[in-house]
Amino acid sequence: MKMIINGSLVDSDEKIDVVNPVNNQVIDTVPSGTIEDVKTALETAYEAQKVFANYSSRKVSRIMYDIYEDLKQNSKELADLLTRETGKPIKDSNDEIKRSIETVLLAAEESKRIYGETVPLDAGIGGRTALGFTVKVPLGIVTAITPFNYPVNLAVHKIAPAIAAKNAVILKPSTQAPLAALKMVQIFNSHLPAGVVSAVTGKSSVIGDELVTNPRVNKISFTGSVETGVSISEKAGMKRINMELGGNDPLIVLEDADIDRAVEAAIKGSFLFSGQVCIAVKRIILEESIADEFAAKMVQRTKKLKVGDPLNPETDMGPMIDEQAAINVENLVNNAKSSGAKLLVGGEREGAFYLPTILDHVETSMDMVCNETFGPVAPLLRVKNLDEAINIANDTQYGLQAGIFTKSIENALKAAREIEAGSVIINRQSTFRTDNMPFGGFKMSGTGKEGIKYAVEDMTRSKLIIFG
Ligand code: NAD
Repeated sequence: MKMIINGSLVDSDEKIDVVNPVNNQVIDTVPSGTIEDVKTALETAYEAQKVFANYSSRKVSRIMYDIYEDLKQNSKELADLLTRETGKPIKDSNDEIKRSIETVLLAAEESKRIYGETVPLDAGIGGRTALGFTVKVPLGIVTAITPFNYPVNLAVHKIAPAIAAKNAVILKPSTQAPLAALKMVQIFNSHLPAGVVSAVTGKSSVIGDELVTNPRVNKISFTGSVETGVSISEKAGMKRINMELGGNDPLIVLEDADIDRAVEAAIKGSFLFSGQVCIAVKRIILEESIADEFAAKMVQRTKKLKVGDPLNPETDMGPMIDEQAAINVENLVNNAKSSGAKLLVGGEREGAFYLPTILDHVETSMDMVCNETFGPVAPLLRVKNLDEAINIANDTQYGLQAGIFTKSIENALKAAREIEAGSVIINRQSTFRTDNMPFGGFKMSGTGKEGIKYAVEDMTRSKLIIFG
């Protein structure tokens, strides 16, 4: 596939292979873009945005409804591309595409609700006869940088609100999974003036800094790892940033919980897209009295998961994004085992496939739970009570989302108060997300919130107008 710059498809001599993780076959290539490509995208975006900023909100909203309809027509092709480039089971790709399209609808609605406010200047000394009000104006140009795991949905969470607020946007998708995102940008582009939405592909070591530091860029909206997020933040200077970074989300299960529901939640939360989800359940913290029952039921349920060809609609879990990712997980599991953790199920690798794995008696000192393990592994940690569970939940640099299963309202409220995370979810796992909710982490998990209403707000700046 090609890049989209100033409304046109653009190629380059050097290419990057996009590989199907199931069999290592090259599905397609994308251009290895250059700094010049980024500069062209930014200069043309600058001109295009000046015109686009004068569109009525009604017109922008109608364009977004058209994009929504067009995306629906292409949903099958988008889901198929997504599965082939990431190894995501097709039923999960269908969900991602459905949610992404719905997110465009949410943005089309939100584009008509961008309000300023009147300011009571007469409340301040000297302001008695002055009339003041704010208007929300676009930022200008937004750079959207996205990871491999939800390449369409996470891109839409940046592109759609940016457009709703009349900005121009340049997407840099992950080179591991750029195809479905490029197809989506083509569809956006076909409804918008040339240059309003572009997509540049390439090595981050070549084009990354230009996308972050070029003076034309007003906002960087980044989703990815903490390491990359911190490095981008340091270079961003005075540009607005939104950082959606990694997580190490806990699922606490107390002795008063509905154990069967908690097991189902743990399965979904741990093994969705082979655990390669920022809000995957990455630590299962069990009250000692129910730990054996929970572990036995989770093992039984895990053995029923269908692992295999991601294009088969019956498949629950496919491969990881590449073999190296699976080897990293294999090493973490082996290290935990040699430090005393007990393997209950899984623990085997074949190429990029790593079987859904449960490890019991995991200790807080093990690498597997100290950092974000991005793979299909459920580490079980046993605790005496809720206080200890909350201490462990908070004993991490991350604070994205958290889940707790309990039937006690007091326990639920205590967890909600004391867990340091962007969302605390009672009686569901941390992987819960709707596209309109405020979403974003505490601590090293990020800054700012996405979710359409909040993202649209963050794609504007407030200008005060005063009649003296
Ligand atoms: P990554 O940080 O390696 O890459 C993310 C994007 O940044 C890619 O497009 C990459 O090419 C680009 N990039 C890398 N270095 C760059 C640089 N110096 N300048 C500009 N761009 C650069 O992340 P990944 O491995 O693709 O994704 C996995 C990570 O993303 C996990 O940590 C996961 O938790 C996180 N994530 C967070 C959320 C969230 O909403 N909080 C959602 C999904 C994934």
